[in-house]
Amino acid sequence: MPSTTGVVCPHCGWPDGAEPFQVLSAHPTGAGGTLWTRCACGSLQARVVDGDGTRVVSRGRPSPAGC
Ligand SMILES: [Zn+2]
Repeated sequence: MPSTTGVVCPHCGWPDGAEPFQVLSAHPTGAGGTLWTRCACGSLQARVVDGDGTRVVSRGRPSPAGC
């Protein structure tokens, strides 16, 4: 799958470039860091932070428990 940089969440339309809905954990690295976030729709996202900003590199499915 190609990167989803610069798009919105296909599940709820939350802009990927916006502030994460909820940050679950942050893992700083030498070049920036990795963020695990949860979208407004409940899907898990892995975001990589580097000199160019934040990219969503992996996205899960919306929470089945959500409405
Ligand atoms: Zn979403």
